[in-house]
Amino acid sequence: MMEIALPSLGLEPQDFHLGVLQTYDPMRIVFLGPPGSGKGTQAQRLKDYLQIVHLSTGEMLRQAHEAGTTLGIEAARFMNAGQLVPDDMVVRIVADRIRENDCQRGCLFDGFPRTVPQAQALDQLLTQRGTPLNLVIALEVSEPLLVERLLARGRADDDQQTIRERFRQYSRQTQPLLDYYASRGVLARIVAEGCPDDVFEQIRAAVETAAGAPK
Ligand code: ADP
Repeated sequence: MMEIALPSLGLEPQDFHLGVLQTYDPMRIVFLGPPGSGKGTQAQRLKDYLQIVHLSTGEMLRQAHEAGTTLGIEAARFMNAGQLVPDDMVVRIVADRIRENDCQRGCLFDGFPRTVPQAQALDQLLTQRGTPLNLVIALEVSEPLLVERLLARGRADDDQQTIRERFRQYSRQTQPLLDYYASRGVLARIVAEGCPDDVFEQIRAAVETAAGAPK
């Protein structure tokens, strides 16, 4: 099979199969939502739809732990207690990741930022690169439904006590981000209690609005 080189555009053959590159300019999107809100599932779907990098800090930290790096081992102590990993550690791994080439074509931040200092660090990193955030999607689900979903999932950090602690951290540390991003005019709130298809349709609509009319 003949290889077609596309170095000047930085495109790969697989970039063409959905035709989305003709529709949207590269976007930087943040996903916010409490544990169990379906954030991971929806972020994955949006990543497939837009063909952009899915950057999950939870996933990156779990991988670092599996690889046995110093950062990963240190981070696991906080994760297993349901606490947030310190800002400087998380900002460091995100800063390294967004320097990689594939992020030039857009990036979907899942689980980051989780605190106002992280949001400020992200703004600074992106502004330096001349590529500010386009959209923040906040998934909203009532707490009883969240608990039900998390207990059904049963990941290592999904026992009752750790779940309660993660909620506390979310409302204390992450909820203030809603005001932070609302005041910047980039926030889209989405009620995420319906089936995954319904939720995704709302997300798609928010992305379309943020991207402007398709070209
Ligand atoms: P969930 O959304 O269910 O909490 P994640 O995979 O996003 O799952 O995160 C799991 C854990 O990883 C968190 O409870 C936290 O300890 C750590 N973590 C992930 N992202 C961050 C972040 N941006 N800042 C601090 N800690 C983080």
